[in-house]
Amino acid sequence: MPENPKRNHTAPLSTVAIIGAGIAGIACAIRLANKGYKVTVFEANAYPGGKLSEITVNGYRFDMGPSLFTMPHYVDELFTLSGENPSHYFQYQRLQVNCHYFYEDGTLLHAYAEKEKFAEEVARKTEDSSSTVLSALTHSASLYHLLGDLFTQRSLHRWKTFFQKDAFRAYLSLGKFDFFRTMHVANAARFKDPKLVQLFNRYATYNGSDPYQTPATLNMIPHLEFNVGAFFPSNGMYSITTSLYELACRLGVNFKFNTPVEKIVVNKKKVQGLQLPTAILSFDKVVSNMDVVSTYKKLLTSQPQPHRLLNQPKSSSALIFYWGIQQVFPQLDLHNIFFSNNYQREFDRIFNKKDIDDDPTVYVNITSKYKPDDAPEGCENWFVMINVPNNTGQDWDSLIAAARKNIIEKLNRMLQTDIEKLIACEEILDPRLIESKTSSSLGALYGNSSNNKYAAFLRHANFSGKIKGLYFCGGSVHPGGGIPLCLSSAKIVADNIA
Ligand code: FAD
Repeated sequence: MPENPKRNHTAPLSTVAIIGAGIAGIACAIRLANKGYKVTVFEANAYPGGKLSEITVNGYRFDMGPSLFTMPHYVDELFTLSGENPSHYFQYQRLQVNCHYFYEDGTLLHAYAEKEKFAEEVARKTEDSSSTVLSALTHSASLYHLLGDLFTQRSLHRWKTFFQKDAFRAYLSLGKFDFFRTMHVANAARFKDPKLVQLFNRYATYNGSDPYQTPATLNMIPHLEFNVGAFFPSNGMYSITTSLYELACRLGVNFKFNTPVEKIVVNKKKVQGLQLPTAILSFDKVVSNMDVVSTYKKLLTSQPQPHRLLNQPKSSSALIFYWGIQQVFPQLDLHNIFFSNNYQREFDRIFNKKDIDDDPTVYVNITSKYKPDDAPEGCENWFVMINVPNNTGQDWDSLIAAARKNIIEKLNRMLQTDIEKLIACEEILDPRLIESKTSSSLGALYGNSSNNKYAAFLRHANFSGKIKGLYFCGGSVHPGGGIPLCLSSAKIVADNIA
C-alpha cells in the first residue's frame, strides 16, 4: 500500500475494514485514512458508489440513483481535510432554476433558485402571494437552524449530544419544532393554492416519506434547496463517487471489488475480522456501510438482533426508466416534475396500499441539459422516475407495465408529444433490483422512512452497543438517507473510532 505523506503519524496504525463502497463507506475510508488508520474497503460489486452509480447505453449516459445534489461543501470538506484543493478534482455549479413544476391544468411554475424571483413567479401564477412564499422559506430556515445540526451532525446515541449548547437552544424552542402536525396539515394551513401545498409537500419525498404522515418539522428541507442551493456536478452525479474514490486511493485506502463479505467475525463481544468467500481476515475495527438490516440478517446471524430498530417502516422506493430520447425539449430543465392530480391518493397507494396509483407524479431528470455529452447531438438522456412502495413481494412486472403506460400517457398529455416514438433505448431500475444491487432492505431508497415523529430516534446508532469495534455508516442508520446525511454518518463514525 503506498504511504500517504499527508497522514497524521501520531495516530495509532490500527486496521479498519469497511463493508461496502457506497458514498458513506468511501467518505468514512477517507476520514479514517486521514486519521492514520490502515483502511480496506470490501465491495460486493465490481464498481464503487452503490446507489450513486451510472450506466451508459447506446451513447446515452445516465446517473442511476441520486440526481439532486445539495450541501456540496460536505464533499469539498473531504478534499480539504486531506490537504487537497477540491476544485482541482471536483467541480459543480449552483442551479439558477431548481425545478420546473408542471400541473395538469397547464400551469408551469419555475422554481427559481433566487427566492424573491420564485416568490414573484408564485404570485403571478397562483393564488398565493410572494410574502407567503418568503415567510415559508424563512420558517424553513429557522427550523433548520434550530434542529439541523443537532439531528444530523452528531450521534443521537451519546449523552453528551444532549448537553451541548445547540441542544439547550433547541429545548428552549420546543414549541417551534412543529412535531405534532403533519407536513401536509402545516402546508395546507399556510398556502391557499393547492398547487403550492403540493409543491411544498413534495419535500417529504426527499427522504422517501409521506407528507400526509411525516411531521411538519421536515418543512426544514426547502431551506436546503432555496437558501443554501441545489447544485449540479460538472461531470455528473457519478463524479461525486469517482472523485472521492480516487481521493481515497491517493490516501492509500485499499479497495477490494467483487468481494462480498459473508460474516463479521465476533468473539467475546468484540469484532475480530471478516469472513470472505476465500479467507478470514483479522481487523481491529469493522465499519458496515451495508444496509443495517442486511448486516444483522446476513453477517451477524448468531448475534442478538435489535428487532425493534430493524423493523421500523422503510422509506419508499423508486421505479426508473432510463430513456434515450431522440429530440430536445426546450420547455424542460435539469429537474422537472409532472404532478399528479390527487397527491393524497398517490401517497395512500404507496405507503398504505403498497401499490402504484394510475396517475403518479412523474419526475424527469435530464443531465444533458447541463452536460451535453451525456446524449448524442439533438437528443436527451431522460431519467424518468416515480415514487413506488418498497418491495414487499408485489407483482412488479405487472405494476411496471401499467406504470409505464400511465407515465407515457401523462407525458404525452402534458408535453403534447408522442414520447414512445422518441425512445431510442431503455433501461429499467425497480425496487427488486435496488435491493439486489445494493443489499438495501426492501429496496428502500433512504433506509427508514420519517413517517413518525420519533423516527430520528429509531434509527440504528453509528456504533454497536453490544459488539466492541463494530460501527455503522450510510443511509440506513443515523442520521438517515441521502448523500449529505450519508456523508455526515461517515464523519460521526470516524470521530467515534478516533
Ligand atoms: P449504498 O449506496 O447503499 O451502498 C452500499 C454498498 O454496500 C453497495 O455498493 C453494496 O454493493 C455494498 N455491499 C452490500 N452488502 C455487501 C457485502 N456483504 N459485502 C460487500 N459489499 C456489500 N440521495 C440524494 O441525496 N439525492 C437524490 O436525488 C437521491 N435520489 C435517489 C434516487 C434513487 C433511485 C436512489 C436509489 C437513491 C437516491 N438517493 C438520493 C439516496 C442516496 O442514493 C443514498 O442515500 C446513498 O447513496 C446511500 O449510500 P450508502 O453509503 O448508504 O451506500
